[in-house]
Amino acid sequence: EERIIAPGATHEDDAVEASIRPKSLDDYLGQQPVRDQMKIFIEAAKGRGEALDHVLIFGPPGLGKTTLSHVIANELGVNLRTTSGPVIEKAGDLAALLTNLQPHDVLFIDEIHRLSPVVEEVLYPAMEDYQIDIMIGEGPAARSIKLDLPPFTLIGATTRAGLLTAPLRDRFGIVQRLQFYSPAELTRIVRRSASILGISCEPEGAGEIARRSRGTPRIANRLLRRVRDYAQVRAGGRIDQATADAAMAMLKVDPEGFDELDRRLLTTIIQSFDGGPVGVESLAAALSEERGTLEDVIEPYLIQQGYLVRSARGRMATPKAYRHVGLQPRGADED
Ligand code: ADP
Repeated sequence: EERIIAPGATHEDDAVEASIRPKSLDDYLGQQPVRDQMKIFIEAAKGRGEALDHVLIFGPPGLGKTTLSHVIANELGVNLRTTSGPVIEKAGDLAALLTNLQPHDVLFIDEIHRLSPVVEEVLYPAMEDYQIDIMIGEGPAARSIKLDLPPFTLIGATTRAGLLTAPLRDRFGIVQRLQFYSPAELTRIVRRSASILGISCEPEGAGEIARRSRGTPRIANRLLRRVRDYAQVRAGGRIDQATADAAMAMLKVDPEGFDELDRRLLTTIIQSFDGGPVGVESLAAALSEERGTLEDVIEPYLIQQGYLVRSARGRMATPKAYRHVGLQPRGADED
């Protein structure tokens, strides 16, 4: 992905991650209800000397699912093992991960909806009874043996609730849905990152970056680094409102945080499909994008901001979308 506002992680994002990723609940900014609940659940589990119940975290990319799992393990004072759904190819891969855990450790599985059905089957008794059944031998001599696992916490992350099978979803005792961050919350995140990275950034400059970050901390941190480059070369290294503004214009990120692709999506619905409703497949084809990218990456923020509605009949552009791309809403003065 080359979009400056892509919510997926780039190599550069990963490289700075170690220094700016929050490690405690107090540094995990925003997401107040999630933080309040997790504080209680973590303290209660520690008080009883038990493993924390399994946690499922939903939310679009870049909102802090991985970070939250690091924070939880850190607050519990246990090890964190991380992997992802597509990486676990065979039942044996998962068995190896599980049998290597220490009591109360956290196993984080990103993109947990992408586990294969065979692997998912292994996970059920592991989550429920801390046991796995593994097959040894082959052919008529093959038999299954039960292995006991240490009590552990599984944290699963996924972008959308609907992607998970019901039996898997039902095995999580704690379910947290992350929300897009407000500009005020993102401003705090930008200021925190700037101070860790030694970037000189005024509150108004941070606010400008925050407003254009689509409610997403990963995008805010990335825009901060690009605005820093601009400030260094053009503005004596200091990020104020005007510098942030000019840098964003150069990066083609508009005041709503939309880039070419967002604007192209809105104009395509409006001009090629008369404002919709248009089915997701037709829209994806018209944009030459994958359906999944559309649903997970582009649409959620446009919908949350009221530019797009997703109905049973398809996607529709709202009057706000018409105005954003400089067109008159359908039906003249409706609003
Ligand atoms: P996800 O796993 O949902 O894709 P990450 O956990 O990797 O997202 O977070 C992306 C970036 O945002 C990281 O740089 C992380 O440091 C930052 N971040 C995420 N959530 C928060 C938060 N609540 N407070 C401060 N920074 C955050």
